[in-house]
Amino acid sequence: MVMSFQFPAYFTAIFIITRVMSIMKISKPLDVHHKDIRAVDLATKLSVDPSAIESASRDFGGIVKAEPEAVLHPSAPQDIAALIKFSYSNSVPFGIAAKGHGHSVRGQAMAENGVVVDMRSMANKRRNGTGIRVSIDRLYADVGGEQLWIDVLNATLEYGLAPVSWTDYLYLTVGGTLSNAGISGQTFRYGPQISNVLEMDVITGKADFLTCSPRMNSELFYAVLGGLGQFGIITRARIPLQPAPKRVKWVRLLYDDFSSFTKDQELLISKNGRKDKSALDYLEGSLLMDQGSPDNWRSSFFPYKDHPKIISLITKHGIIYCLEIVKHYDDRTKHTVDKEMEQVLQGMNYMPGFIFGKDVGYEEFLNRVRSGELKLKSQGLWDVPHPWLNLFIPKSQISDFNNGVFRGIVLERNITTGPVLVYPMNRQKWDDRMSAVIPDEEIFYTVGFLHSSGFDTWKAFEDQNKDIMRFCNKTGIMLKQYLPHYSTKEEWVHHFGSKWKVFQHRKYQFDPRMLLSPGQRIFNNN
Ligand code: FAD
Repeated sequence: MVMSFQFPAYFTAIFIITRVMSIMKISKPLDVHHKDIRAVDLATKLSVDPSAIESASRDFGGIVKAEPEAVLHPSAPQDIAALIKFSYSNSVPFGIAAKGHGHSVRGQAMAENGVVVDMRSMANKRRNGTGIRVSIDRLYADVGGEQLWIDVLNATLEYGLAPVSWTDYLYLTVGGTLSNAGISGQTFRYGPQISNVLEMDVITGKADFLTCSPRMNSELFYAVLGGLGQFGIITRARIPLQPAPKRVKWVRLLYDDFSSFTKDQELLISKNGRKDKSALDYLEGSLLMDQGSPDNWRSSFFPYKDHPKIISLITKHGIIYCLEIVKHYDDRTKHTVDKEMEQVLQGMNYMPGFIFGKDVGYEEFLNRVRSGELKLKSQGLWDVPHPWLNLFIPKSQISDFNNGVFRGIVLERNITTGPVLVYPMNRQKWDDRMSAVIPDEEIFYTVGFLHSSGFDTWKAFEDQNKDIMRFCNKTGIMLKQYLPHYSTKEEWVHHFGSKWKVFQHRKYQFDPRMLLSPGQRIFNNN
């Protein structure tokens, strides 16, 4: 289904900002001919205000800065379509980037000399936008691309329902995570968030407003999921729901031996049927290193009284591996959940005595990173550079990665301060028709170096990241970057591998003038 919008014919040759802004100066909406109203309407939603420009030229990474000419504050998807149509039909088109919550770390939501679409402007305008609408009978929610996952959680919980696949941090937009993958401890069982979408409304780079699903405009559907914003702007996604649990049993186990740690992780994710009641609901893992405390900004979990014994373990081994698992429960299962967790833990090879548990509400668990964020914000430590590196590593090479990177580069450099995540997922839960790129093996690990740094020290982390990439290239570790950032076409072609041709073909099909998400630097990297 194509929804077409009226667009003024004279909107052709002149660059949008000067043109639209000049319209703003010379016309008032009530003075103009009806066909000009959309133009004037659009102009009133474009801002060249220095604070809007400044905010659109920054992101969570704090490393890249790129100024747009203007920022669009849409109140409805039609405004976005009008903007895209203007650029598409202009003899000198300009780049357009949807900005969700700006939590990219490498300028991916920026549009240098173009226009940034501030998607969050639509968040509270339910009348025009999609908002969040829950269908109790059909067990799904129709959610605006601009919505934060925390708001999706709160809205669906009102009906005792919730999506099944999450990110660790919920203050990200639906459009932003679906443009990447959206991974967390549920991915091994339910797949990433992109595997949990029923249909979407998307405005393509040709300003076509299409509904897509596996049956309708399926090429666009699969292109957009994990598509790094290259093919269209997601204005609505239909997310399947399940009855929400009430509480969770949350356990952490410590290992000094990497191979026992990964063996246990792999055994646990082998039970992954969506309906299999004995499967875990969440599994992650992380490194504990000498950082003064076994907790970090992302999580405070360990009882304070146990800190000394954990710290002395870390001092002895340099790195301790922490396996983290969760089982949900509700009123029906509250009497059996402990027994089930006991069964899960049987035969696990963690260090005796180093098992820690918590029992918390479901929402508190899902929103667990928020308290760390608020604490850092209060200390002025949230808006600092974040030279992150996120990788997918094939299972067959994770041990080489541990030896060369964790126990090699990371320990030697000894600068790593933030969380380092390492946990496996199952390839079969991903759909290869989607644009997201993962390693070829059936099981692969995600490794996330989530560094926070000082404003003048981020380069040291960047050097470490480069060293890690060099090491992997040299030793033949077939990694794929998650939330990828590259600067040359060759690197992108290599990243997409066998998917490059399809990715490129889809770009010509849906965004032939290369307007969308230029900050990814895939097709705009001269
Ligand atoms: P933005 O940074 O605003 O945009 C990202 C990209 O998507 C840009 O290219 C942009 O143009 C495009 N885009 C944005 N909205 C749309 C739309 N509606 N339609 C089409 N394209 C669009 N990721 C995980 O998978 N799991 C995690 O657990 C996780 N935790 C995180 C924790 C923190 C503290 C941070 C900062 C990031 C985390 N991420 C995680 C990464 C995060 O998922 C991505 O950076 C995501 O893109 C951020 O969403 P956003 O709304 O801020 O998107």
